[in-house]
Amino acid sequence: MTEILLRDEASRLAALAEYEIMDTASEKPFERIVQLVRTLLGVPMATVTFIDKDRQWFKARRGVEHSETERKVAVCDHTIRSIQPLVVPDLRADPRFRELPAVTDSPPIQSYLGIPLVTEEGFALGALCAMDHQPREFDPEQIALLREFAGLVIDWLEMRRIAQTDFLTGAMARRSFLKELNKEIARHVRHRRPVALAVFDVDHFKSVNDAYGHGVGDEVLKAVVSTCEKSLRSGDIVARLGGEEFALLLPESDASEAFAAAERFRTEIEAIRLPGLPDFRITASFGVATFIDDYGYPDQWIAAADGELYRAKHSGRNRTCMIGQAEDGG
Ligand code: GH3
Ligand code: MG
Ligand code: MG
Repeated sequence: MTEILLRDEASRLAALAEYEIMDTASEKPFERIVQLVRTLLGVPMATVTFIDKDRQWFKARRGVEHSETERKVAVCDHTIRSIQPLVVPDLRADPRFRELPAVTDSPPIQSYLGIPLVTEEGFALGALCAMDHQPREFDPEQIALLREFAGLVIDWLEMRRIAQTDFLTGAMARRSFLKELNKEIARHVRHRRPVALAVFDVDHFKSVNDAYGHGVGDEVLKAVVSTCEKSLRSGDIVARLGGEEFALLLPESDASEAFAAAERFRTEIEAIRLPGLPDFRITASFGVATFIDDYGYPDQWIAAADGELYRAKHSGRNRTCMIGQAEDGG
């Protein structure tokens, strides 16, 4: 198999999106890899490149000025069409590449070695590349070395995905979610856009485990997250804070919109039915807090929403409470 899943470009792009790598800040493992590639292969340029719909973006780069280019002028867009390395000793001698700006610009890229970054599912997300300003051959040892480094890039991509995702439900893990809250706080401070946080906790979940077993309990948690995911707007995030407690980050939502959203999620959770258990019902209690400057830190914001969740539990469960609102929504 040398032709890979470019046939299905939509799925490839979906796979790329799942890794949540595009436009992220620099990360040491990728930086170390491009540095090592440059040193060990003796090239002036090395990049970890990802190919999005219309552009190539460099997660890490050495000797390359811009952080991205248009996809149509990217040599790496050819690399991802095969699982084999792309070796081009002289780009000017190859009709596919000789007109590209990178090859005609000064200083030009004149030789290229790229290894496609292929995921376990067979999607080539980008390439690890070594490039030189002059024509040169790449010997088999160098190609083999770059292949190993490309393997490390993929390993690290998988690791960082695991670290940011809750294993059972696929929701965002707590630590990553705290980072997202920090980002939203910064955005709010800059642009004064409303943003809301809803936390919710499954009601009497212990009795679900007790009555039906832990396996059914796990299925419930998965169903809760997939139910939320179905009605998230783009930009919304669902995270598992721990146990049977979850959070929803709702950018661009003021108090009344956030309350309405929480009520919608609450109603949808109430409507969950498990296969083979027609009489089974589950509910959840919600606490909502829109961000105000007094909070400053994610912990204080979460604590505010948690206070409302506590109120929802104590006023009868299966309802939404929100700061500044006396009435419940259940
Ligand atoms: P409340 O309405 O007050 O929230 O009651 P509760 O029973 O939901 O709350 P409690 O904190 O007493 O129990 C939570 C239970 O959630 C206990 C714990 O074993 C269970 N739990 C936590 N994580 C998981 C998990 O990953 N899978 C399963 N099946 N159960 C879990
Ligand atoms: Mg609970
Ligand atoms: Mg709980």
